[in-house]
Formats: sequence, C-alpha cells, structure tokens
Amino acid sequence: GRVDVAHSQGRGRAPSTTRKYHRTRLELLFQTWISSAQQQTFIFTDGEDKILREKTGNHMINTNCSAAHTRQALCCKMSVEYDKFIESEKKWFCHVDDDNYVNIHSLIHLLSAYSHTQDIYIGRPSLDHPVEAAERVKSDGSTSVKFWFATGGAGFCISRGLALKMSPWASLGNFISTAEKIRLPDDCTIGYIIEALLEVKMIHSDLFHSHLENLKQIPPATIPRQVTLSYGSSEVKRNALNVRGPFSLDEDPSRFKSVHCLLYPADAWCPAKDRD
Ligand code: UDP
Ligand code: MN
Repeated sequence: GRVDVAHSQGRGRAPSTTRKYHRTRLELLFQTWISSAQQQTFIFTDGEDKILREKTGNHMINTNCSAAHTRQALCCKMSVEYDKFIESEKKWFCHVDDDNYVNIHSLIHLLSAYSHTQDIYIGRPSLDHPVEAAERVKSDGSTSVKFWFATGGAGFCISRGLALKMSPWASLGNFISTAEKIRLPDDCTIGYIIEALLEVKMIHSDLFHSHLENLKQIPPATIPRQVTLSYGSSEVKRNALNVRGPFSLDEDPSRFKSVHCLLYPADAWCPAKDRD
C-alpha cells in the first residue's frame, strides 16, 4: 500500500498501499503518524475494505488497479492519486509509501518555506546522478533526456501550481501513457514530466528517507527534524533507524513507535516515563 496526504491548510498526504498490507503495515501508521493528520491523509489501495474505509472516515480510495508490484500497477495507482489531488482543494500533494513515517511538523515546516502557487517538486534524489531515458522524438530516431527524480519510497511533495501544469501528461490516464512512453516506474515518470517536459528543477532534500539507504546512519539527534522515515520490512531488507526509544527492537522492529513517542510523548500508549 501507499499513502497520500493533504493538510487542512491544504496539504495532502497519501500513503499508497495494497490489500495484503491493510492489517500489517497500515495498523502501524494509524497508531502513529496518521493519528495526527487524519483529515489530510488519504489511503490509496487496490482492494475494497469496509473496515479500512470506516476507520479512515471514507478517506480510503480504491484505485481498482492491479495488486501487483509491477510498473503498470504502480503507475495506475499514482495516476489515481494525482487525479484525486487535482479534484481536491488541497495545496500540496505529498505521496508516501505504506512503510513511511511522516513527521507532520517537519513536513509543514518544510513546505511553509514555499508557496503552493510556485512550481515546487521536493524529495530525495533516487540516484547520485540524473536518470537518462530514451525519448522518441521523431520517426527518424530517438534522443535521450536526463532528469532527476525523487525516489517514491522516500516520499515527495508537489505544489498545486506545478501539479496543474502536469495535467497534459498526468491526468485521466495520461500518466500511464507517459510512463509507457519512457518505460520507467511511477516515481521516475513524475520526475520526467516535471524536469524534462516542464523544465522545473527538483529541490533535493535530505530530510526524506527510504529503506534503500542505510537508516542506521541517520544521526539519532536529527531524527525529530526528518520529514519522512522508513524501515526494511523483510528479513533480507532488514533496515531500521537507530533510535533509543521506549520500545525494544522486538516490540518495535520498525522503530516507528519509538520515534512517535519521542515526538508525541503524551500519546496515551506511550510509556509514562517519557512524558514531561
Ligand atoms: N505495493 C503494491 N502492491 C504490491 C506490493 C507493494 O501496491 O504487490 C506497494 C506497497 O504497498 C508500497 C509500495 O508498493 O507502498 C512499495 O512496496 P514495498 O515497500 O513492499 O517494496 P519496495 O519497492 O519498497 O522494496
Ligand atoms: Mn518499501
């Protein structure tokens, strides 16, 4: 699953997810960060789930996309996230995966430096160099374009002003055709539309984190300032933040509960010894 969010001032966050993660990954998000941003958070998933729909106050969107982890299925989901954002009155479109923790205060602090009417695309570069895509320009040959993109697994945000300009390549199914044209995943396609087609530069931020990086390397003292965090969920991808918190690694393998209680020590389920 994945998640998209929008703030009441108009910021939207969207975790995108898949049916098999409704009871596992999403529970953790509801217990932690989503609880402080329910009105701004929309869950995009591929299967109907009455219990989830109720729990989110109808903020669950069934994309009707395939549940597979394929380029096409993920592009289908991203295209629905985009369309729903455009339909909404929200000022910021932020996409996160269902294995991301969003620090709402850090996110608001970051976005408040900009206006939603500016052209803003902000996230963590996926690579240390721009990606190159073959773009067929004329029948006589193909040229390639280089562009940066924000890694989807770390989350990224787009201002409404910029999102509106993306419409010819992103709205109502166009996103899927655009992705097919360059044959790259959903997050790359976002970068392609913004950097290569609209010629707007991505803002590189090191406050967004995916489990593709070694999360142990984030200095613990900086964790409260980070915008997104993540964890490696499987045995092979085991990757967790170095955070001293009230919960042991066994109780809290993702470290999200510990991070959350560090940020919100007064939450009812956080151990009292950590409260002021
Ligand atoms: N996902 C999906 N369908 C699947 C598997 C995953 O929609 O069959 C979503 C998942 O919920 C998450 C994103 O795709 O939001 C990335 O999945 P995951 O974290 O499992 O893999 P990663 O690509 O990060 O290794
Ligand atoms: Mn992941």
